[in-house]
Amino acid sequence: MEYQSDFDQLLAEIAHLKRQNTSRTTKEIVQEEIIDQLTVLLQSSHQQIHELTVSNLELAQLSYTDGLTSLYNHRFMMERCRSEFNRAKRYNSGLSCVLIDIDNFKLFNDAYGHQFGDFVLKKLGALLKKTARSSDICGRYGGEEFIILIPLALKEAMEYVLRLHSTIAEHVFSDGENSARITVSIGLADYRCDMQVWNELISRADQVLYLAKNSGRNMVRIWTETNDEPEEIIDNGSVNNLRKQFTDIYLQVKSSYVESTNALLKTIDAKVHLPPYSWQRPWVSESRKLKS
Ligand code: GH3
Ligand code: MG
Ligand code: MG
Repeated sequence: MEYQSDFDQLLAEIAHLKRQNTSRTTKEIVQEEIIDQLTVLLQSSHQQIHELTVSNLELAQLSYTDGLTSLYNHRFMMERCRSEFNRAKRYNSGLSCVLIDIDNFKLFNDAYGHQFGDFVLKKLGALLKKTARSSDICGRYGGEEFIILIPLALKEAMEYVLRLHSTIAEHVFSDGENSARITVSIGLADYRCDMQVWNELISRADQVLYLAKNSGRNMVRIWTETNDEPEEIIDNGSVNNLRKQFTDIYLQVKSSYVESTNALLKTIDAKVHLPPYSWQRPWVSESRKLKS
């Protein structure tokens, strides 16, 4: 703070003046009292200016922070999107915009209550911040929507977004009373040199987010010139979850089947005297293939 040294200098000068007053006439005593009063005034205004500076900083921070999630708010993100867009245009550098919308959050609130809904929004904000790199800019776009600006080209941003999508789906939100998972739909668009204005970037991310919602939710969609290509649906959490569940069940069934078949074979081997030729018990070789 610049004024700090001025204050300190003034106080030092007053102290110096006081030390110089050795023979104290009535006039000098009065002068000294005035100097004392001035010192007190100076110190109190010093304190007031300090408090004002602190509250100004707090106010500035409030003006760009979302109250619930502590991420940047909508206004700040729009400003930032504009400046990042201009930078990408000037230096032809990578910039990707991610819009994240919680699926069926209205129903979620109905089922768990608005308070737990707020808790989830807050925790999701923290999760986004935690998974993002320091150069990514995370904000709350609106109610249950979030935005991330990533200073990377599409391919690298895509890898991050896919990871993020799975991280969110796997996360259990728990406040001690309620415990739940959520899914999100994500729209991703990157800066292209054909873009004229900064909000085209957000608008493209929003278009594909809308497509993700219409294609069944819980997925990431990327903006391309022809957004109707089926391969643009690059991740579908529900299909992946089903596939994983199916694989788990299949492996369990397979392993218990192999175990029980082997146990059965051992019993048969022990009880039946079989001729020493494998062709006479073909089911043995067939069943044992299951081991591989
Ligand atoms: P969709 O999958 O199509 O996005 O469905 P949705 O229900 O998530 O979307 P919709 O736009 O119909 O509703 C958004 C919901 O988000 C409704 C609103 O109650 C909830 N919401 C918005 N802001 C907040 C908030 O600050 N706290 C809580 N708890 N809920 C919020
Ligand atoms: Mg929404
Ligand atoms: Mg929603």
